Amino acid sequence: MKINNRRGKDKAGLIPIATTKDWKLLYFQHGRPGLEESIQSIGLCRHCELIDICAIPKPESGVWRCEYYKVLAKKKTNLYENVIKQLEKAEGIVHFDRDICKILAETMNELIVHFPVKMDDGNVKMLTGYRVQHNNSLGPFKGGLRFHPSVDIDEIRALATLMTWKSAITNIPFGGAKGGIQLDPADFSFGELEKITRRFTFALGNSIGPEYDIPAPDVNTNPQIMAWILDTYLSTVTPNERNRCIHAVTGKPIESGGSQGRDKATGQGVVFLIEIWAKDHGYNLKGASYIVQGFGNVGSWAARLMKKNGSMLIAVEDVTGAILNKDGIDPYDLADYVKEHGGVLDYPKAKPINHETFFNTKADIFIPCALENQITAETAELLNVKLVAEGANGPTDPEGDNVLQRRKIDVIPDILCNSGGVIVSYFEWLQNKRSEFWDLKEVDHKLHKMIVDAYVRVRDTAEKFKVDWRTAAQIVAVSRLEMVYKERGIFP
Ligand code: NAD
Repeated sequence: MKINNRRGKDKAGLIPIATTKDWKLLYFQHGRPGLEESIQSIGLCRHCELIDICAIPKPESGVWRCEYYKVLAKKKTNLYENVIKQLEKAEGIVHFDRDICKILAETMNELIVHFPVKMDDGNVKMLTGYRVQHNNSLGPFKGGLRFHPSVDIDEIRALATLMTWKSAITNIPFGGAKGGIQLDPADFSFGELEKITRRFTFALGNSIGPEYDIPAPDVNTNPQIMAWILDTYLSTVTPNERNRCIHAVTGKPIESGGSQGRDKATGQGVVFLIEIWAKDHGYNLKGASYIVQGFGNVGSWAARLMKKNGSMLIAVEDVTGAILNKDGIDPYDLADYVKEHGGVLDYPKAKPINHETFFNTKADIFIPCALENQITAETAELLNVKLVAEGANGPTDPEGDNVLQRRKIDVIPDILCNSGGVIVSYFEWLQNKRSEFWDLKEVDHKLHKMIVDAYVRVRDTAEKFKVDWRTAAQIVAVSRLEMVYKERGIFP
């Protein structure tokens, strides 16, 4: 955290005292100036514009303790609105059945659970979790679970809807769902996270299940968390049924019934698509440069797998900061560093850069693999790349998208680009149901075929309707769902 000593007032009359990449901390004095108790600070989140006030009590034992009170939640850029706008855009071009679009514009079920968990210090904390099921006309609800402070009902609605499109585009027999808990995992011990996960799974009860709604990893969740979910779920079914329910969750550790290749699947799918895009455009990936935002599961795997094409990673940004080395960053070495240090900050073989410089770095390919709404009108103007391959869900907002189109920067849109994860989740689910175990070669081969087929469908649709790829992907997804609704009709 950088402390700003200039102490000039900003537009709102507040005095910036510290900035991090995510938070701009400001303080103002009220009451009787000079008294430490009366100093307050405001944290302004750069991404969601949430404003928190933190009162800073007089330190005891020399440690500043800040307790945050959420006082005002300005509406954050609403991903759900973006998702619906995108549906309407496709509808305007293809003139889909109005009634079917009405159905698809709504989520089917929404569950919000408030549950208590006893913390390590003996105190009980109330937490809020969500599971939104958007649509299951193509198969069981399917979608990840996210642990993040920004999680709220609209975010989960949007992500659940994107899952429906993803399953539809890739022709897999799943619907769309998403869930999450509003928390920052960094605030909890390993044991507390286990208790939170288990209690949340219990609270979801029969709202999830192997033939009904199947969770998977997403931001800040991983195979360990999936193993806890599975174990908790299995503890609630009869002993006789247990072995028939291993597919209640995907993205499990291999030993607990996970699939080979699931860990890298989303990043692998991104790279397969970049390869086919390069082939289509007569573009040589050998020597091409790329930058990656987010160095977790998706970003670090995409970065590592791109290296196999002889391409060079030159800049990375994650929640801790951004780094650049024009001579190349070894993604394997960086992944080891991040595993040990929790982020890219202070990586010794690259120099630190700021957010704007990261976005402005000249490279061939940008792979956003962090959170939503990162490519805005402002950052899209900064980008200096030929292709954006969206590993993250919803990384580009509509204004950012317009800028990318005007600047003729190619986009492989999220619902196609990061579908490798749900494809291999489907493989895991199938293997569990059939008591089979496929080797990595088989998983990769099948993933390649399914994702490239989806790419071809999107590319051909873009050519047919003379539209951008995001709209084309949406058209492919809604066309499949429309067909199913037309065939089956609407009950009763
Ligand atoms: P993760 O938790 O493993 O990694 C998230 C990364 O994003 C971390 O490196 C974190 O530091 C970084 N990050 C968080 N906030 C940031 C910020 N404000 N600026 C820059 N970087 C930031 O999560 P993941 O599973 O890799 O998911 C990343 C994205 O990919 C999400 O949008 C997720 O929905 C999407 N996705 C994931 C999967 C999957 O299989 N895990 C599948 C499809 C899509």
